[in-house]
Amino acid sequence: MALIVQKYGGSSVADTESIKRVAKRVVETEKKGNKVAVVVSAMGDTTDDLIDQALSIDSNPPEREMDMLMTAGERISMSLLAMAIHAEGSRAHSFTGQQAGFFTDARYGAAHIKAVRPDRVKNALSLGDIAIVAGFQGINAKGDATTLGRGGSDTSAVALAVALGADICEIYTDVDGIFTADPRIVPSARRIPSIDYESILEMASCGSKVLALRCVEYAQRFNMPLHVRSSFSRRPGTLVVPDGIDPRMLPNLD
Ligand code: ASP
Ligand code: MG
Repeated sequence: MALIVQKYGGSSVADTESIKRVAKRVVETEKKGNKVAVVVSAMGDTTDDLIDQALSIDSNPPEREMDMLMTAGERISMSLLAMAIHAEGSRAHSFTGQQAGFFTDARYGAAHIKAVRPDRVKNALSLGDIAIVAGFQGINAKGDATTLGRGGSDTSAVALAVALGADICEIYTDVDGIFTADPRIVPSARRIPSIDYESILEMASCGSKVLALRCVEYAQRFNMPLHVRSSFSRRPGTLVVPDGIDPRMLPNLD
């Protein structure tokens, strides 16, 4: 049995049909005998819409209130996904960044993770439940909500995977992994089946479109294997692994 963290980005949970599709995939992973914790982004363009709403009220909104507002996006997707998993007949519990034990520094809008103490997530997993965690958010020392910077859910996922001692962190997006160039622009771009952290960090132009750089640095620091793949297809994606690890030994590759 493997412990798997799956992260679904905004395009994978853009509407309720997509959320149901993701719920099926999560339950399928669980039914194969794995423990699964899921990190979600906000649905589609929710974060942009929230920012636009704020700016239509105040062109320079207080940072604390901005972060409070932006954490709402991931609350919507996490609770809807938990419901969709229930509807599939499995048990799921959603947790905010605070409930999942994400402690950050005080930099609103660009907070850094200081510690992850996911006791409630561990407890849910040990009871046989699927844990759903809101990406992109935590709390500062005052107990106020903070956000990690745009695209921060990737980092949340890797940090959770490290704190749980997961076997792999799967990052689900709308492309089949990392390509030699952006496949939406360059049709001859090839998928990279497996790569090391250093090379991804060097590929700033294509690698970083798919993965937040901070997430890759975090994974490298703790040797957490990543599998970047599409939630819209069954094809294998790109494995990002430490040197000397045989990628074929990793779980849930099909
Ligand atoms: N929802 C946030 C954003 O759009 C975080 C994320 O998607 O990773 O930046
Ligand atoms: Mg987003």
